[in-house]
Formats: sequence, C-alpha cells, structure tokens
Amino acid sequence: MRTPLRKSHGKITFVLYNRPDVCGGKCLYCFSQKGYTKSTTENEDTLLAKDAGWNGGRQLEKRFSRYRLQKDTGIKCDFAVKGDSFARHNEDYLRQYTKEMYDFLNNSRSATLKEAKDRQNEAKDKCVTYKIETRPDQIDEKKCRLFVELGITTVEIGVQSLDDSVLAYNKRGHDTASVRKTTQLLRQFGFEVVYQMMVGLPGSCRETDKKGLTETLWRDEYAPDAIKIYPCLLLKDRYVQQNRLRTLFKKGLWRPYTTEEYIHLLKACYPDIPGYVHINRIQRIISPEKIAAGVAEEIDRKIFSEVSNCLWQRSINNCTDDWNIRPNNCTISSRSQGTHRYCFEALVGSRMVTGYGRLDFLSKKAAIIRDLRVLGDMLPVGTKNVQKTGCQHIGTGTALLKAMEDRAKDEQIDFIFIKPSFGAAKWFIERGYRHINEYYLAKYPDFGKSDAIEQFHFLVSDRPINGS
Ligand code: SF4
Repeated sequence: MRTPLRKSHGKITFVLYNRPDVCGGKCLYCFSQKGYTKSTTENEDTLLAKDAGWNGGRQLEKRFSRYRLQKDTGIKCDFAVKGDSFARHNEDYLRQYTKEMYDFLNNSRSATLKEAKDRQNEAKDKCVTYKIETRPDQIDEKKCRLFVELGITTVEIGVQSLDDSVLAYNKRGHDTASVRKTTQLLRQFGFEVVYQMMVGLPGSCRETDKKGLTETLWRDEYAPDAIKIYPCLLLKDRYVQQNRLRTLFKKGLWRPYTTEEYIHLLKACYPDIPGYVHINRIQRIISPEKIAAGVAEEIDRKIFSEVSNCLWQRSINNCTDDWNIRPNNCTISSRSQGTHRYCFEALVGSRMVTGYGRLDFLSKKAAIIRDLRVLGDMLPVGTKNVQKTGCQHIGTGTALLKAMEDRAKDEQIDFIFIKPSFGAAKWFIERGYRHINEYYLAKYPDFGKSDAIEQFHFLVSDRPINGS
C-alpha cells in the first residue's frame, strides 16, 4: 500500500525509519520479517528506507524525489520516524541519523549536530515537527534531554493498554505506572505526547477496550494530546513470524475484531473521547493481502464525523474545502485537559478548528506551552499571506499565544516556557520571549527574577543566558 503525500495541517509529513535494532520488548502479538524493523513488514515505505541504507538524509532525498518536491521552497517538514524503540538506539547513532536529515534540508554537510541545527534555523526548508516512537519504560530524564538536543517535538509511546493484567498477559514488559511516570516527564519537558493504543489484544475483552478508550485514558495522569488506535491483527505466515499469536488463534483462545465489530466499537467510543485529543490514526497501513485475521478493510475516518468531537475531525482540513478564512472570523476558546492543563482552539463557528495550542502549569510559578500550531493549507516558511486566505500567516498563532499568556497572567505565574521549533525562536522573541538556554525560551514579567528559573532544572541544563 503506497503512502500518499501527506500535505495537510500546514506541513508535509515524511515517514522515515531507523535501522532495525533490538527493541527491548518480547510482546506476544508482535510480528517480524527478516531484514526489517520488528513490527513492520516489507512495503513501499520500508523498502525505500532499506534502499536508502536506513540513512535519514537519503530517505528524505528519495521522498523529495518521489513526491517531486522542489528544494529551498520553504517546505515545512514533519518527520515521523518509525521502527522498534527509538530510545533504545545508541545515542551517537541517533545524533548522526538526525544530523543527516537536517543536512539534507540544509543542502550542506555540517560537522556536528549542533551546527546542523543552527543551519536549520536559517534554512529555507525546515523541520517543524519531529516525531519518534518508543516504549514508555525506556524514557528517563536523560533520554528527555537527548530528545530535546535532537530537536524532537513529539513522543509517541507504545502504551497499548491501560490494564495491567492485559499488559502482563501480552508480555509488554512494562506496567501502567511507567506510562504515568513517562507521561508526566514528557509533559514537563514540553513534548507533545501521543499514545499508541491497541484493541482486541489477547487477554482483553470488548468491555475492557471500551472502558480503556472512554474512561481510563482520560484520567488526569494520562490524558494524552493525541492517540493512535490499532486493532490487533494476525498476518499471514508467508510474510511474517507471529507464532505465539497464531497459536492462540488456532486454539481458539484469541479472536480479533472484524471490520464491522471494530467500527461498532469506535462508534460507541468516539462520543466520549474529549475534544482536546487529536486522533491520528485508527488502523495501521498494512496491505490487506497480508492480513490473515482481523480488520483488513481500510476504514474512512469521516464516517465518525457525526459522533466525534476530536481535533482531527474538527480540523479545517477535514471540515471544508473552503479555506477562505479571515482572522476576524476566528474566536479563541479553551478547554481543560486535566488539572492545570488547557487546550486552546482557534475556532470558526462553534466547531471548525484552524489552530490550537496547549498550556500546562508546571507549578504556581511557571507554565509551559507544549504545542502551538496553525492548520490549513501550507504556506512556505517566511512568506506573507497577502490575500489573507486560508489559516496560515494571518495572525492565528499570535491570537492563540495571547490567549495562553492571558490565562497564565490570570494565574499570576512568573514564567512561560516554550521549546520552539526551528526558525520559530525569532517569532517568539518578537513577542517578548528570551533564550534561557540553547533550547528553551521564556517570557517573564520581571527579568530580575531570573534566578528563580534555576528551580526548573529539567529545562535548564546549562547556564541561562540573560536577555536574548
Ligand atoms: S516493543 Fe514494539 S517492536 Fe518490540 S516486541 Fe513489543 S510491539 Fe514489537
């Protein structure tokens, strides 16, 4: 199944792979194919990655060529790096892999990752989001610092179930306590947090799946920003090894969802999924001819639009083809995402979202903006929206930022932190933010209080730089 060019939400998504390595898991349902990353099969994307020697820069080069994209045209890139568990890889390998991607966008080979990132700030084509996938039990403060150093913005963790007995039955090797701990840590560092959830796992049942998606997931200690939901599948044995799941299936001890059952489950769950969540996916891209049992048909997510309130369904990209939006048509509203966390939305009418941002209060003194994005058709970096059509470069981001700052002021906090993506620091500096170190900016009403910033040790790993 070919991955189409995904040009939406104001950027282009590039699906890339790390080299195959040991993921650290022994999950009962997982599958593997020789020569490929565990939990992936040979398809057009993985073949391309293999062909590129799993090199990040060469994969990007091949993607640009496949999609006939012109370099140096102000492309906003969304890196979606897949393959086993990112955090398990050797740190120097990850630095090199990441540098190669930046080198490609920069059109020049840098000596160090730091140099490549500095060049990204000035390059025409920029990485604006960098997503990785990893296991929840492989993340600690040191790993978070590495992710910050690499420029990662979004961390997808393989949660799969929030029922400890289901996790144990499936030999996931982690429990829900590690999910809670990791979620809190990732939020403190300012990452967008995505959960990968699996339904129809051995040891689970329809009620457990429904409760997980409609209740447990939205408790304060979880409440992810986005989710991907996958039904557990059995693949044909001529393609992959998946012996333990196959044995359960043959013995009648496990039965996957059919397409109809899965649609029924989603229709029952969608109304209870909070509006601050972005549902990124509801199935994996696996060629139907490879599936032996389970949901094999592609499901059009728009069939849930009437029962869903999620950000994806309400995004302007999925609501209308008429993107003739004017800034004065938008209103900003906020909704709670748990205790001391808020999701702000730029809305047209009562439902259609043209941008959103997330503000978390870290303490009584500080807040962090974890996400600020404007949706709609992509406008190249640095261009002006002279026609004032669409959502980008018309003041939506400024309006969202102001609303978040106003909320922070109401709470009388001393600092707001942000970890901007490449090239965005200038935009924040124009709005009163200052570098506190290489990675984070902060806005604070009284610069004399800058000593107090030291208490946020997880953000300030080197000496703060006063002023810009
Ligand atoms: S952690 Fe992921 S890749 Fe590793 S065995 Fe489990 S499902 Fe497969």
